[in-house]
Amino acid sequence: MEKAELRRFIRTTRRPIDSTKLAEWSSVISERLLSHPKVQSAKTILLYHSLPDEVQTTQLLTVLHSMNKLILLPKIIGDGIMELRVYTGENSLSKGQYGIMEPIGEVFSDYENIDVAIIPGMAFDKKGHRLGRGKGYYDRLLPQLHNTYTIGICFPFQLLDSVPVTSHDIPVDEVITYSRQICSLY
Ligand code: ADP
Ligand code: MG
Repeated sequence: MEKAELRRFIRTTRRPIDSTKLAEWSSVISERLLSHPKVQSAKTILLYHSLPDEVQTTQLLTVLHSMNKLILLPKIIGDGIMELRVYTGENSLSKGQYGIMEPIGEVFSDYENIDVAIIPGMAFDKKGHRLGRGKGYYDRLLPQLHNTYTIGICFPFQLLDSVPVTSHDIPVDEVITYSRQICSLY
């Protein structure tokens, strides 16, 4: 399947799934992340603030923040371009482009010191290949993170046998979903 077709397929598959189910899956995925050694030892973590159709991260954000980790969230600053800002609590968010909650805190540019990045996707495969929403935001960001362990998170119907990629697509190191299977690539 081509990328655009696959994005449509994922949307169609997700539509009939109850939001309670998505919340339940999200909470299991969050627990898996919280017990992940790389997450536990991380001092600085890039997370994302979820849209309704993505693995929900609101609780995870609160828990990781309360563990005294430095939490970063993306802020869209141009077409396909994000900067990272420090999350300092619920009051430090404002609605940005696409309705995504974005931090108003200080810009974080010390990319060498991001230990873990938790990354959304429309689909992933077992090699860590990632299909995004089609603007290449993470394909531009990830090459700048040289010391970061990247974890893609997705609902079970978003983990596929294979995802179409081209040379600019940056894979993740590991994919975590709701199922018995945790797919570690190394
Ligand atoms: P997504 O990763 O969001 O699914 P795509 O991989 O389809 O999106 O990329 C969307 C667009 O962004 C493509 O036209 C691609 O050429 C462009 N793009 C992706 N990564 C880069 C990059 N590092 N530099 C410039 N353009 C890029
Ligand atoms: Mg891509």
